[in-house]
Amino acid sequence: MEHQWLPFTPNREFIADPKMFGSAKDAWFYDLDGRPILDAGSGLFTTPAGHCRREIADAVYAQLQELDFTPSFLRSHPKSFMLANRLAELLPAGLDKLFFVSSGSEAIDTAMKICLTYHRARKDASRTMFVSRERAYHGVNFGGVALAGMINNRRHFGGIVTGAVHMRHTWLPDNLNVTGQGLHGGRELADDLLRLIQLHGAENIAACVVEPVAGSTGVLVPPVGYLERLRELCTAHGILLVFDEVICGFGRTGENFASQTFGVTPDIITMAKAITNGAIPMAAVAVSRTVHDTIVNAAADGAIEFFHGYTWSAHPAACAAALATLDIYRDDDLFARGRAMSPILLDALGSLRELPLVAEVRGIGMLACVELKSDGAPGRRGHLFQKRLYDAGLHLKTTGDNAIVSPPFIFTAEQVAQTVQILKQTILELP
Ligand code: PLP
Repeated sequence: MEHQWLPFTPNREFIADPKMFGSAKDAWFYDLDGRPILDAGSGLFTTPAGHCRREIADAVYAQLQELDFTPSFLRSHPKSFMLANRLAELLPAGLDKLFFVSSGSEAIDTAMKICLTYHRARKDASRTMFVSRERAYHGVNFGGVALAGMINNRRHFGGIVTGAVHMRHTWLPDNLNVTGQGLHGGRELADDLLRLIQLHGAENIAACVVEPVAGSTGVLVPPVGYLERLRELCTAHGILLVFDEVICGFGRTGENFASQTFGVTPDIITMAKAITNGAIPMAAVAVSRTVHDTIVNAAADGAIEFFHGYTWSAHPAACAAALATLDIYRDDDLFARGRAMSPILLDALGSLRELPLVAEVRGIGMLACVELKSDGAPGRRGHLFQKRLYDAGLHLKTTGDNAIVSPPFIFTAEQVAQTVQILKQTILELP
């Protein structure tokens, strides 16, 4: 325990009381003594098909014996093109050029650079500002941190995180405890983009970046009309609309992407996490034909069009893992399984609303949040909750006083009931 420094973790506390996983299978983690811990978080929104899928392991093993690495600059390999084709089939029509990276944070910074390069290619280079939202999470690289709307992720990083301005978040008391989309305030909330346009000038704004459902901050489902109005405003003012679907993508909200669940098509979609069912780091940016062609056609013959890329972009093992994952999603009709399990999950979680310490239960698809009332120090009760849940045999992500429930789509009704039972018992015992 001497040498590792853990991310987003109180390290001294962890070393004193380590919470480790030794193995995993299907909807279960197992600790180092083999104690089962029900995974109601799909790992970290990564693993909707359940853990340790043989098909993915076999595909990665075979790939590493055939072609272990290809540089992604000036060289490529067939599986990266096959994967781009398969993703294009799942994405909304027209959003069908794929740029591969290895994490959600890389995907967001890549998307931001694509936006800047697009406007420059159109000779509209004053568009350099980004609009994002309060309570947003877009990863931890500097672009994503500039967009971020969660204070602890921004406050220590000073001047580098300027360049983005923030709309209001989408939580409204009028929509309290709603399952699915709230009915109130959607267009009005989106009109906050107009305020920023009026303040800064549309001619200076490159893009508006939002998570369709804000995930890490505690599952804020957009009210009816919100995303539609953002799309309208972006189109009217020449601003690109980017959906960060790092959590929402791959069936989490019901359809392939949240864009399809809500019927709103952005210009760019970022995705990561479930793209390989969590088995290998991999992520991607899906770009509209228009944006892609504008950038690529603006460059002289033989010139690099976009000065960006990573050593690990489209790594062969990651592509093999993603292709095997997409096969599982298709062959097991997994997103339909998630859609069928969603009402059972959301109904069962709804029963927690009656507990005195529960402030709200909200959610959509296989993504829900149980928000606890604060004990006066924001996040303190949530932190204790998270530790006790592990001890009680349940894994999920908490942020602040929010417990985010995002089970794998293979979850059974019995596992839903087990999850709710552990949540209930643990909440009842909280101070
Ligand atoms: N964007 C969103 C919406 C996320 O939820 C996350 C991670 O949870 C990221 C970006 C960053 O992804 P990563 O941790 O893979 O860099």
